[in-house]
Amino acid sequence: MKVVLDRFYGGKRKALTMSYDDGVRQDIRLISIFNKYGIKGTFNLNSGNMNKESGWNLKGVEISRLSREEVGELYKDHEIAAHSLTHPHLESLSKEELIYEIMEDRKNLEEISGYPVRGFAYPFGTYNQEVINALAGMGIEYARTVETTGGFKIPEKLLALASTCHHNDKLLEKGREFLSLNRGGNLNLMYVWGHSYEFDVDNNWEVIEEFCSEVSNDEDVWYATNMEIVDYLKALKGLKFSADRSIVYNPSALSLWFTADNEVVRIDGGHTLRL
Ligand SMILES: [Zn+2]
Repeated sequence: MKVVLDRFYGGKRKALTMSYDDGVRQDIRLISIFNKYGIKGTFNLNSGNMNKESGWNLKGVEISRLSREEVGELYKDHEIAAHSLTHPHLESLSKEELIYEIMEDRKNLEEISGYPVRGFAYPFGTYNQEVINALAGMGIEYARTVETTGGFKIPEKLLALASTCHHNDKLLEKGREFLSLNRGGNLNLMYVWGHSYEFDVDNNWEVIEEFCSEVSNDEDVWYATNMEIVDYLKALKGLKFSADRSIVYNPSALSLWFTADNEVVRIDGGHTLRL
């Protein structure tokens, strides 16, 4: 029996996820585009900056953060992840300050979202090993950097996660490359990051609209939030196979898919299967 862990949710071979930072007013428009095309994203919020005073001006565009009331249900079809309480350079903080910045943000965002917040994006994209270790100890399971790979491999370092590309980096070409990929035996992930206010500053909302339109409704793509993908991959790695690979047990609560002798197999949570 040849077993390959090469399938996402639903037996699909590819996953697409988006990651947007800072909780700004332009998220409203971005979410309406994502929802129109069935694209899923993660929004990294600074719960200590949800006020008028936290706005700024970039190249003549007024950028304002959403208030707590405005955040309300806005992100309900997507993931809310942490981005620290007030957006400092984390590596310059004392240990106590670092813990406060992460845990207070988690608490506030969990009150808004109603679920444990386990995702993170580094403010300014900066971090060091000490920050990584601290995040791991505070229940953060993945943390996005601003580094990019241009590729579609599954990121190895979840707490120093590099994405495929920023949305201003040949997004449409990358999307077409992703759709035409045929890397059998591999999981493929397209991971895009950015700030929704950049579409106003760069006056290029048509890029994200066209991208979402082109990549939507592909039967081999799973559209998921960052956390859904991380949870799925962890559960997939947690499958228990017998020594001769003829029996498999899924100790997780998620339905999982993989390939056994070139056949796609589905195993539901808590089940044991003879292959
Ligand atoms: Zn930020």
